[in-house]
Amino acid sequence: MPTLHHDLGVPPAINASGRMTALGGSVLGDGVIAAMGDAARHHVVMDDLLDAVGREIARATGTEAGCPTTGAASGVAIAVASLIAGTDVSRVEALPDPGGAPCEVILPRGHSVYFGAPIRQMIALGGGRPVEVGSANKVTADHLAGAIGPRTAALLYVQSHHAVQKGMVSLAETIEVGRRHDIPVIVDAAAEEDLKHWPATGADLVVYSGGKAVGGPASGMICGSAARIAACRAQYGGIARPMKVGKETLFGLVQALRDYGTAEPGGHRARMEKLAARLADLPGITTRVVGDEAGRAIHRTELTVDPAAAGRDAATLASELASTGVHLRDHLAVTGRLLIDPRPLRPDEEDHLVDRLTALVEGGAR
Ligand SMILES: *Cc1c(COP(=O)(O)O)cnc(C)c1O
Repeated sequence: MPTLHHDLGVPPAINASGRMTALGGSVLGDGVIAAMGDAARHHVVMDDLLDAVGREIARATGTEAGCPTTGAASGVAIAVASLIAGTDVSRVEALPDPGGAPCEVILPRGHSVYFGAPIRQMIALGGGRPVEVGSANKVTADHLAGAIGPRTAALLYVQSHHAVQKGMVSLAETIEVGRRHDIPVIVDAAAEEDLKHWPATGADLVVYSGGKAVGGPASGMICGSAARIAACRAQYGGIARPMKVGKETLFGLVQALRDYGTAEPGGHRARMEKLAARLADLPGITTRVVGDEAGRAIHRTELTVDPAAAGRDAATLASELASTGVHLRDHLAVTGRLLIDPRPLRPDEEDHLVDRLTALVEGGAR
């Protein structure tokens, strides 16, 4: 075990749950680690570095400009702030008090998600007042349009597996409503994989996490037009100051963006099918390979747990496994299902997972 992990008594975890902040986000590639080391050894003019990293984000996302952030959560707060205060110094410095400026941020009720914190709170942090419209499972373009008034600053669309997928207004309709009323649209696409797709929809500001699909250090980015991104950058003289991004993170983000997409694509589906077959004979466990609920190109092995035959329910099995250092994707555990996500899982860790799971269920109930 690496020495500091040992000294701190916090051993490395085996992550079969996906890109989870709770498990430290991404494991970084050697190139990204080296870039962060390079950054750490030198001083640099930070404003110039932020400009240069913004150009890299623009290239990666197919937009005019980019603004680095500490994550998608701060990206949402900064995007909201930028649409309330713009580049006006007094307004920037007054936030999160919006003064008399329009500050309502309208979002579909099914998009009012909790990703580790409530998205509503990120809106409020940027000086916005969240206005949820419609019902948890039914929101139409008319709900959005009906809520627009003189106090409206933005529409927020959350593209995420956390959001309700059925019955929601589409992004295209959201953008159409925004256009018609001259209200900008922010898209929180934190964990999305296709970085060029979401800005190309016509959204005004798109927010990504750098530590999820991109596989970089804990970081994030906002992209959009030069004028809108200048207003985002201006917030670093205000509410974004406690969210400032260090030079090491900036270098790591750039290298991760440059490396992103060069890794061999696919393969995971066949790998997950093999894993499903390996686990299929365990007592009380049924396996199959399932696609991603938010439509990303991810295939996972799903385990359905029959509590009577497996000796415990899915949630208990997940927590027993976690106590051995193996973490499954467990947000569907109440429905009896657990998922294995191939992306963060090394092949040797996969073997370890199979051994631990087999020992638990073949060992019977606790
Ligand atoms: C993960 C997530 C965030 C937060 O991203 P960070 O990069 O961890 O700040 C925000 N919104 C959604 C929808 C997310 O899934």
